[in-house]
Amino acid sequence: MSGSTHYEDLAGRRFGRLVASHRSYSKKYYPSFYGATWVCKCDCGNICEVLAVNLKTGRTRSCGCLRSDNASMVIEKNRKTPSGKKHSYHGEMMTVREMSDRYGVKTATIYAWIQRGKDLETMLDSFLRRREMRNEEVSI
Ligand SMILES: [Zn+2]
Repeated sequence: MSGSTHYEDLAGRRFGRLVASHRSYSKKYYPSFYGATWVCKCDCGNICEVLAVNLKTGRTRSCGCLRSDNASMVIEKNRKTPSGKKHSYHGEMMTVREMSDRYGVKTATIYAWIQRGKDLETMLDSFLRRREMRNEEVSI
């Protein structure tokens, strides 16, 4: 099956909650230097694009719903005092205000992620990556 092609064919294979559908060439989420990207269907019904390497190493096993299930439980517990509450980003505990100051994301944006039960690490990571890519485009 593999060997003759540069990229392994993952079509139809299951990785956690995800089933790989077809290769993505959109480069919307990942520029080509990250490697092959696959469009995957999650058991929850979401469609997402995941790097092949992340599928094969088990790093990504859902569209994000696995992690946001956990995150929303933590957020539910902390809902009473959101402003002074410390949130984790890459293991570092910060208030929303501190996160906002450090990464230049509006506090309202961070609160919206929390209220919608989003995984803060995922949202911040993709926000910072999108901004980085925009900056690179601008600087050329
Ligand atoms: Zn999902």
